[in-house]
Amino acid sequence: MAGVPADRVTAAERVEVLRREIAHHDYRYYALDAPEISDAAYDSLVRELRDIEDVWPELVTPDSPTQRVGSAPGSTFEPVLHSQRMYSLDNAMDLDELDAWLARVRDAVGERECPFVCELKIDGSSLALVYADGSLERAATRGDGRTGEDVTANVRTIRDVPLRLLGDAGAIPPGRIEVRGEVYMPKASFERLNEANEEAGFAPFANPRNAAAGAVRQKDPGVTASRDLATFLYQVVDVRRLDLIRQSDALEWLRKAGFRVNPDVVTCATAKEVRAYCASAVEKRDALPYEIDGVVVKVDSFALQEELGYTSKSPRWAIAFKFPPEEKTTVLREIRVQVGRTGALTPLAEFNPVTVAGSTIARATLHNEDEVRRKDVRVGDTIVVRKAGDVIPEVVGAVIGMREPGAPEWRMPAECPSCGGPVWRPEGEVVSRCTNVACPAQRLERLGHWAGRGAMDIDGMGTEIITRLVERDLVHDVADFYLLTEDTLAALDMGRVKKDGSPVVLGPVMAAKLVAAIDASRSRPLARVLFGLGIRHVGSTVAELLSAEFGALDALMDAAAHEPPAPGEGGLTIAAALAADPIARVEGVGPTIAASIRAFFANADNCTMVERLRERGVRLAEERVAPARPQTLEGLTFVLTGALEQFTRDEAAAALKELGAKVTGSVSKKTSFVVAGEDAGSKYDKAVALDVPVLSEEDLVRIVESGEPPAAGS
Ligand code: NAD
Repeated sequence: MAGVPADRVTAAERVEVLRREIAHHDYRYYALDAPEISDAAYDSLVRELRDIEDVWPELVTPDSPTQRVGSAPGSTFEPVLHSQRMYSLDNAMDLDELDAWLARVRDAVGERECPFVCELKIDGSSLALVYADGSLERAATRGDGRTGEDVTANVRTIRDVPLRLLGDAGAIPPGRIEVRGEVYMPKASFERLNEANEEAGFAPFANPRNAAAGAVRQKDPGVTASRDLATFLYQVVDVRRLDLIRQSDALEWLRKAGFRVNPDVVTCATAKEVRAYCASAVEKRDALPYEIDGVVVKVDSFALQEELGYTSKSPRWAIAFKFPPEEKTTVLREIRVQVGRTGALTPLAEFNPVTVAGSTIARATLHNEDEVRRKDVRVGDTIVVRKAGDVIPEVVGAVIGMREPGAPEWRMPAECPSCGGPVWRPEGEVVSRCTNVACPAQRLERLGHWAGRGAMDIDGMGTEIITRLVERDLVHDVADFYLLTEDTLAALDMGRVKKDGSPVVLGPVMAAKLVAAIDASRSRPLARVLFGLGIRHVGSTVAELLSAEFGALDALMDAAAHEPPAPGEGGLTIAAALAADPIARVEGVGPTIAASIRAFFANADNCTMVERLRERGVRLAEERVAPARPQTLEGLTFVLTGALEQFTRDEAAAALKELGAKVTGSVSKKTSFVVAGEDAGSKYDKAVALDVPVLSEEDLVRIVESGEPPAAGS
């Protein structure tokens, strides 16, 4: 099992730490109704403990949190001994675990029919209600499952709890009848309560479940009454006396007796139907007016339930399918510093692999030094991780209670981990940088960037080969790629040895492919070259704009060679200075990017590298093919907004560009026309405000078909 220590001593130590921490969170959750960590993070700690106990069963103790239900009742209320134990439920953390449980049940029941009842798992607090001769006699919390707390006075104030059972349930036998269910706080009431709490200066509740549990356990029933609680009942304890033979019948009986029963109940004949119900519950979760944290699947037949029985903590005939957790806990092994192509140093958290929302993650960026401090994560910590937006792994923070005493705070190293060069963090900036331009890690990143998909797309030129080429002194900068021959590449030592001890080399087949890929990259569009050079702030979009404006690298370098007049010089306004700078004035570029381009070409090494690229056959200019259509829209700038019917935005932009127009993303005074489709938003408003003429989709069709420019002021 991943993450389970292989030696007993380490396992025993980890078990101790986990138990101490879980006990702390149990107390916060059950006794104080004030959890400090999310349920998902808590479940992850319990799961780790259970995994270790599975591998090392001799470490299981009766007081382990894996063996207990809830927590012992407090001293505020009278204790209530439950007539039958109130169990917790076993969890299935994903569909595989659900399938495994369904298969176990199937094995146990053999050929007999075994329908399942699927119910929503209401995220509240469990409640046992005893009726004597039809009247509510006592209400109790679950407590530790055997002994709960007498909360009758409080529960009497909950409006949907019947004080007398309805006769519709059929002849209600004399004597006691016990029913169980969940008391919860609707989402809207929870929000109102927390707003009021905040206004009054009290700490807000962590979630509706804790708010409900807290409200039921108030000293003053008047406070409970004001908390707007509700219930869903799902269990009849005395099924025999009521002649009930199935869970589905029990739910029906509860409904008729006047209880609120959740309407989203489905009886499923097959495992497939159970899975479909779970999937539909995940989808409807957000829209429900109350919180649910999963689905409870129960064997319908009480006879089969009895046969299947119980473990020490939960029934074998039911399982709680928990919604995919967005958070897990794991151990932070290392904070590694990565060097980017511009020398930026990024701390990267490396942790024990965990599966979050369906995929395994083992590292996540910590962005920068300030972020590491803010999250206060230290090497060796148990950390909470999640997938931000369900895609990008993220470290949420540390479980501080489990930190090794004396674990040092993390600091950005003073020297670059790759070259040992000095690290500099300019004042007011969050990013630390290695200042050595010859830093090998930066070089590798730059070379990889050039060869990458968005840039020159040299198929097959990946990190491993580039690393070997740099190690063997065959490539120093991107121009060196174009000197590589098939022979050199075929003999490239890959740093590994075969079984017979001889070195693994790249070989002639890969070498031929790589040389062909390098050759193909010689004629990539200018925008790719500009992007590939890795000039700070020049991403692929800016590279496109520069390529369209200058058409050749020489023209851009020429423009970069001339310092533009600074605003203020000779009374020059900012706008006039911008207009006088051939680079900054390109729409979408501006002075910061222009300065970065100038800094790049002010470096003589970069200029000689460009010369070598030229000598080695890399095309550094756009091939200007004669345009297919007359350039009737030359000098006009269009902005497209809203949904068009006959074109996608890209098609419309391409059609306008074919006629020589420029198409940009934002409306300014320089915009000649705005084309507004359906539901045009802020760009339309801005066009109106700036008096920029607005065209309809019909106008656009006319222009594209005829090639005639629109009449000014249309
Ligand atoms: P549980 O909540 O996982 O499941 C059992 C409970 O589900 C039952 O007791 C019952 O009250 C409830 N339930 C809701 N709908 C039901 C239905 N239709 N049928 C049957 N039962 C239904 O187990 P638990 O032992 O009550 O509590 C564990 C939960 O508490 C976990 O979710 C855990 O994350 C959370 N917890 C969190 C912290 C924390 O610090 N965040 C600490 C302790 C416990």
